[in-house]
Amino acid sequence: MPELILLQFDRNEIIALNRASRNGDAEASKFFTTLWNDYRDRALACFLCDAVVEFPVFSESLVISPMRPRPLVCRCVTSAASCPR
Ligand SMILES: [Zn+2]
Repeated sequence: MPELILLQFDRNEIIALNRASRNGDAEASKFFTTLWNDYRDRALACFLCDAVVEFPVFSESLVISPMRPRPLVCRCVTSAASCPR
């Protein structure tokens, strides 16, 4: 049974890291590519469809409230395949 894991980060921090990563910042990109490495020993569930996600994990941030920390969840989306949901 794949596990749904949510990683929680400071909202402004994750927005800044995402922006830096998209602008080519190597450290910020490394943060995202290694984000789920501690979970390689288990099956991670896609937040939307429950399918087991494959590495490299596509992460998506959820906005629960504009003022709250943003959890990051896994999606079973890679550049090659997309989530059915
Ligand atoms: Zn999915």
